[in-house]
This record gives sequence, structure tokens and C-alpha cells, in this order.
Amino acid sequence: MIEIRNLSVRYGANQNDREAISNVHLTVPDGTVCAVIGPSGCGKSTLLKAVAGILTPNEGEILMDGKPLSPKVQSIGFMPQSYGLMPWRTAMENIRLGIRIKGGRSKDSEEEILSLMERLGIAELRDRYPRELSGGQQQRVALARVFLLRPDVLLMDEPFSALDAITREDMQEVFLALWHSLKVTTLLVTHYVEEALYLGERIVLMQASPGRIAEVMENPLAGSEGLRANPAFFEKGRQLREKIKQMGGYR
Ligand code: ADP
Ligand code: MG
Repeated sequence: MIEIRNLSVRYGANQNDREAISNVHLTVPDGTVCAVIGPSGCGKSTLLKAVAGILTPNEGEILMDGKPLSPKVQSIGFMPQSYGLMPWRTAMENIRLGIRIKGGRSKDSEEEILSLMERLGIAELRDRYPRELSGGQQQRVALARVFLLRPDVLLMDEPFSALDAITREDMQEVFLALWHSLKVTTLLVTHYVEEALYLGERIVLMQASPGRIAEVMENPLAGSEGLRANPAFFEKGRQLREKIKQMGGYR
């Protein structure tokens, strides 16, 4: 379980600078996906970076099973907002690099890479560079890379936002299929109501100025079969949109 306690982050050195996130409390139970949703600038990326250990919070703590979460102890898979692929490396190399950076596993990972690429429909693209791939294909490469690490914690920052609606829904399916084979504890940031509802068993609604949690909702429907066609999905979407509107809207 991930426990975020009393977390505050301020970017400036000055005590008077406004906090990017303030007093955030949140738990993510083991083997669940928690979706964080909220307007631009409310601190979603800041929260993820703090959990990833990329930035140090001014206050508070982030615990994994009661001990401080640290990239030195746990393997943390972080998928940044812009995929984070290296432009001068091929698809295959990009995926392999993810494993290398994290200390490397054995040679059989080569076979593993190919079988996962096969599964994601990108095996034929192995020698292409990121610029030669569509957004959806780059996304698949980034997913392959992060899932091959078999991280203890998965952090995803608006992973499907740059994609068109149809590709985005495809990628959500691809993500869920991969996720179910690992059931890694996941914190996923999105600004799409449908995405939060589709993927997040727990949905955290954030509010800006300062960035803070407005509400936490349980969403047991997440990931269930045929959910998009379920009337309850529409109704929940309507409610969530209404809440965001009441908070002063969105983008
Ligand atoms: P979100 O991901 O929800 O759009 P961010 O976490 O990127 O929000 O930003 C939260 C707040 O912190 C915003 O007001 C933003 O302008 C500010 N901020 C983000 N990164 C920096 C930075 N490196 N330096 C100063 N302020 C920043
Ligand atoms: Mg962001």
C-alpha cells in the first residue's frame, strides 16, 4: 500500500511562495489503480514527481507498506507526460534501455521484449525511431518499456492524452490487459473523466490554488467488462463532470 501523508511541495525557495500541492493525504491499496483527475495546474504532475522521488517535498511523507518509498528500495515505473522515449534510439533499444537503466535482468529478457512487442502489435516496428512512429505506437513502446521493468509501483502522467479518442480507448484496453498480468499498484493522472472512471478503482479529484484533494471517490466498476456501454458509467461520468464544474471548471 502506498500512503501519502500531509504532502506539500513548494517550487520556490521562499517560504512565502505558494505551494504547488498542499497537505495531500492519499492511500493507494496494493494491486489497485488510483486515478487522479483535476484541472491544469492543480499539481497532478507535482504529486507524481514527488512519489517518483524526482522532487523532494517540503513537508510530509510517502510510505510503501509503512516505510519510506524510495527509488533505491523499490522499483518505480514512471511514465512521464511525453512518453520519455530517446529520439536517437530505435523502438527496441528504447524498450531494452528501460531494463538496463534499472540494473538489468538476464538475457532472456530479449525474448521477453519481443514477445511483449508482439502482443502490443509493434514487433515489426522494432528498428524504427520514435519520429517514425505514430503517437499510439510510441505509447505502446513506452508501455512495453515500463511493464517490462515489472515495477513495484507504476506512475503514469496523462499517458493517453496526446492520442485521438479512438486510439485512446484502444490504449486503455491495451493498458488494462497488461495491467491485469501484473496488478501493480498504480497512480495514474488524467484529465479525462471517462479515463478516470474506466481505469481508476479509486478516483481522486484535485483542485487548484493551492493544489489539493477535493474529494476521493470509490469506483468499483473500473476495469469491468463492457463498462463503456453500462448506463451506470454514463451516470457516474455526469456526476463527476458536475463536481468538476462546481469546483470552477476545467481547462
Ligand atoms: P498539473 O500537472 O496538474 O497541470 P503541475 O504539477 O504541473 O500541475 O503544476 C502545479 C503548479 O506548480 C502550477 O501552478 C505550476 O505552474 C507550478 N509548477 C510546476 N512546475 C514548476 C516548476 N518547475 N517551477 C515552478 N513552478 C512550477
Ligand atoms: Mg501535468
